[in-house]
Amino acid sequence: MSLKHDMTGVYLPGDSTAVLRELAVPEPGPGQVLIEVGASGICGSDIGYIYHEHKGHRGVDGPAYRGVVAGHEPSGRIVATGPGCRRFGSGDRVIVYHIAGCGLCDNCRRGYFISCTSPQRESYGWQRDGGHAHYLLAEESTCVRLPDELSYVDGALIACGFGTAYEGLRRIGVNGDGDLLVVGLGPVGLAAGMIGKGMGARRVVGVEVSPQRREWADGLGVFDATLAPEPDAEATAGLVADALGAPGALTAIDCSGSRAGRSTAIAGAAEWGRVSLVGEGGTLETEVSDSLLHKQLTLYASWVTSLPAMAELAGNLARWGLRPEHVVSDRFPLAEADEAYQLAAGASKGKVVLLPSEEPGS
Ligand SMILES: [Zn+2]
Ligand SMILES: [Zn+2]
Repeated sequence: MSLKHDMTGVYLPGDSTAVLRELAVPEPGPGQVLIEVGASGICGSDIGYIYHEHKGHRGVDGPAYRGVVAGHEPSGRIVATGPGCRRFGSGDRVIVYHIAGCGLCDNCRRGYFISCTSPQRESYGWQRDGGHAHYLLAEESTCVRLPDELSYVDGALIACGFGTAYEGLRRIGVNGDGDLLVVGLGPVGLAAGMIGKGMGARRVVGVEVSPQRREWADGLGVFDATLAPEPDAEATAGLVADALGAPGALTAIDCSGSRAGRSTAIAGAAEWGRVSLVGEGGTLETEVSDSLLHKQLTLYASWVTSLPAMAELAGNLARWGLRPEHVVSDRFPLAEADEAYQLAAGASKGKVVLLPSEEPGS
């Protein structure tokens, strides 16, 4: 094995730029693996940090960005292991769950490293070096096997957005008994549509403000209809009902993270419907009697997903023959990370990913 001693990493100084710096290729310690990064996604939470909230991002991925290599959606191939690794070895293709938890608190024991309560909890790309580099030093405990049928880009998408969408859909029990309404067709909403199809939803309807995003969603062949919202949630729900030929969707998920989007998900749900909230930020405001009680609705809220659910999702996608990478609209080498971030923060139609392994000389 001929590993390089130095590599390039992408950093987010908080001034709306992504900068490249050279750093040493790390060596795995006990229980750690060194991964040659095949693909690393750019996420809405990264964008939030560098373009909107320069002081940090409490509540989404921990208290602060500690000036580390960015990128919390990595997938790649293990090239070296430290002492004591028991499950994975060199050559294994893996997805990296984006938070390293203590492994011992109740949430970690449930597989929800995201909700780890230990001060040792660290997110890749926020508190410890992440995936926007040629190599990533990861805890073996955060690795999930990437099935052979899936690419590294597929894996990078599962690492965050697809995992988040899957968890939200599992909570509301999407299946062939009913339709699925997806509000907000950014990368997570596109994931929800694709996974909802895989889970057997009868029809899948999306609502999205941006015409480019609706057009991109239409091209995926996943949505039975994509609709532009009306100014009023009840009016949008009327469009959803028309598209479904039914009074509403048995299951609905908000991936927009906006107050208006959440209202649309609630209004578009059928009687006895189940609504999932996964979009971050903002508020939820709703009339209660007609909108919730009289419709016998159940609301679920979920944050990212668990390690076992991520592994289950990877296996399911392979079996269903679905490829997350179809939601990717733009791919960039590490050297063009700054352009990639600008596109992801602005006019991208779908998901933006970096491909460190395709770098010349990597
Ligand atoms: Zn993410
Ligand atoms: Zn923990």
